[in-house]
Amino acid sequence: MALVLHGGLTATLANVVTVGVLGVLLMRGDRRRDMLHRTRLLLLAALATAFVSALMPPLFTVVAGHAPPKPWLNDVVALCYVPFTVAGLVSIPMSSRRVGHRARSLADGAVAATSLWYLMLGLDLRHGALHAHASGWAHVVTLAYPVGDVFVVATALAVMARCAVPARRMVAWVVAGLSIAAANDIRGNVIAHPGDRVSTVLYQSALLLLLGAAVAPAVVAVPEEDEARPTLLASAVGVWPFVPLLMSMALTTRLVIRGAGLPHAQVLPALAVAIALVARQLTGSRDRQRLVSRLQERERGLEAALRRDELTGLVNRLGLHEMLTSALGDAAGRPVTLCLLDLNDFKLINDNHGHGVGDAVLTIVAKRLAGVVRGNDVVARLGGDEFAVLSTGVARTDQEALSARLLAAFDAPIVVGSRRFTVSTSIGMVTSQPADTPEDLLAHADAAMYSAKEAKQFKSHIAVLSGDDRQSTARQLRVREEIAHPDYDQFGLVYQPVVDLATGRIRGIEALLRWNHPTLGPIAPDLFIPLAEQAGTIGAIGERVLRRATADLALLRDRCRGHRLAVGVNVSPRQLTDEHFVDYVLALMDGHALGRDQLVLEITEQAFEADVDALAAATGRLIDNGVSVAVDDFGTGYASLRYLHRLSLDVMKIDRSFVAETTTRSSSRQLVAALATMGATLGLQLVAEGIESIDQLRLLQEMNCELGQGYLFSPPVPIHDIERLVATGHCYPVGSGDAAPLASIPTQRAVSLSETPTTLDR
Ligand code: C2E
Ligand code: MG
Ligand code: MG
Repeated sequence: MALVLHGGLTATLANVVTVGVLGVLLMRGDRRRDMLHRTRLLLLAALATAFVSALMPPLFTVVAGHAPPKPWLNDVVALCYVPFTVAGLVSIPMSSRRVGHRARSLADGAVAATSLWYLMLGLDLRHGALHAHASGWAHVVTLAYPVGDVFVVATALAVMARCAVPARRMVAWVVAGLSIAAANDIRGNVIAHPGDRVSTVLYQSALLLLLGAAVAPAVVAVPEEDEARPTLLASAVGVWPFVPLLMSMALTTRLVIRGAGLPHAQVLPALAVAIALVARQLTGSRDRQRLVSRLQERERGLEAALRRDELTGLVNRLGLHEMLTSALGDAAGRPVTLCLLDLNDFKLINDNHGHGVGDAVLTIVAKRLAGVVRGNDVVARLGGDEFAVLSTGVARTDQEALSARLLAAFDAPIVVGSRRFTVSTSIGMVTSQPADTPEDLLAHADAAMYSAKEAKQFKSHIAVLSGDDRQSTARQLRVREEIAHPDYDQFGLVYQPVVDLATGRIRGIEALLRWNHPTLGPIAPDLFIPLAEQAGTIGAIGERVLRRATADLALLRDRCRGHRLAVGVNVSPRQLTDEHFVDYVLALMDGHALGRDQLVLEITEQAFEADVDALAAATGRLIDNGVSVAVDDFGTGYASLRYLHRLSLDVMKIDRSFVAETTTRSSSRQLVAALATMGATLGLQLVAEGIESIDQLRLLQEMNCELGQGYLFSPPVPIHDIERLVATGHCYPVGSGDAAPLASIPTQRAVSLSETPTTLDR
């Protein structure tokens, strides 16, 4: 860098301007994200000191009338490039897992630089005084330039071996630039005068390379796998600082042998110690290298274990996610097909036969799946009884073949010891679209898998999500996500009158939940209730529904004196089987001073799939305490008569699908008539749901069905409309054949669940 003096005043000025412009540009760059920003600025500062020092002697000459002495202040300024460059180098991001990188890089630089110093002294010895003027401080300063260069180059090489891979390019520029500068400075020391064309060309090249370093591409992130990978460069760097040391020793030995005047007694022991030191360092570095590779091997083993499922040896969730990420990021843009599989009723195997048997079943399933996929497909176990298959570039026909093979894997029973299990699975399959992320694909496959589960088949079933299904799935996914954290302001209740079919009087109301989402619009309870059950929020929602419905009923009682109504509230089996539920319900009714018989808890037949004993206990306690229990949507579910018999019930609601067909299909008519008879025999009160026409009403009246609800009387309406209907005395003018329903289709908003009910007039 001392050769900056030989670049000429114009070139130096041009350089200053270039560095200035670059500096301004870099200051305006994206400083926060670029991890090399500080290094760039320090490199520019190093260049700037060199240029400033180059300008100082000519200015001195102009002012003082003669050249400055040697050494002078400009040498101090010029040598500042060493700390600036070294500071820049050590602020480069290192492979973070290894500590002490920076200190070791500096130590390597120092070893190389001192060795060179020694070498140069040796050269001086050999040539006698290389420079006649080079004595005292001048000598020190003349040697300081190449020594400084070598210090920086050695440090840079050491940094390059240990720094984060993306930063290497910048360091390589520094190494190249400073190596040329070092060669030039050493040349300047060996050849008495360096101010020739060669040195100018070398200097300008060094400069350009350093500028190249300052504008090297930004580094915004250091990839994980970048860390601590052993490289040839790293091994070489361990050795290289000793090369000048060995050279200088060889030189000294030669001088001693030639009798250059060095006292043997001092040099030889020093030489022996130095050789031992080098040997020690070299073996030490080899051992370290071996140790590091062994540690890295173990680390790689651990990393692989992190991505494997211990039980089945398959890839686990983390591994699958990474493979999905790389498959979706594949430049070839081939579609990726993901299948999620969930075993049906696997819990029963675990519960009834123990976890050992359960694990054996899972292992067999894993083997079967691995046996039916293609060579480069991936089978993963995501946990529990959930598996996944990842396949790339699957055409539609292959997709069908894959589904068939996956389903076929569950055809044969699974045999564990003397036990045989028929295991079935629900599979969701989805193929990626261009902008999909792994999360998108997993979520879509999950939704497809749920719909396969909801198909409620007893054999294995696959749901393939086509492109068109995606939108509705996306909505369903949003609903699933949001119902996990419900905003109760968006939920409200409407009420549908339950009418005495003989007199038309309103005997009760059924509370029906509404969800009016600000962006998704109204969401049907048939969609969100099952999702709330899955998300585990149905308990909290149901609790609010009960609180709101009983409070509304109390207000209605106060406003419509003389009309004693019952309110029907739909409850999920999860709520019913909660140990505090019955006490909660009783406390609510008592709190509002309502008769306990004014509450009818409606449970759907689906509830009977749950723990029937717990359900029977809860319904028994409710009925013992005077609360009514209704079986809802009767005829649609799995309720066997045996269950009906076991549960304590007092109301049966005939599903609207049968009612709808009473006028069109004689079989439905006969079925409803049979249900009515059965209900009467069991002592159950009958409610026909979904009555929409006068003809249906007449038929139901003939069958002695006591109560009914449906659009013929009123759709579900806000509570204040119920008050108006109650005030008219009855909901349907019995006898007038063609009378229209009294209530209009509701447009008013339902009263929010989170509002405190104080008045009906909202
Ligand atoms: P559900 O208990 O059987 O309620 C009756 C359903 O039939 C209501 O649908 C009602 O709007 C509809 N409906 C009434 N009359 C007629 C008619 O004449 N024709 C036709 N086509 N439909 C009629 P909605 O409100 O969509 O509720 C659907 C289901 O969601 C309910 O069926 C109930 O099982 C469930 N649900 C509603 N609110 C709640 C709640 O607060 N908690 C729980 N767990 N489930 C609820
Ligand atoms: Mg109901
Ligand atoms: Mg129903």
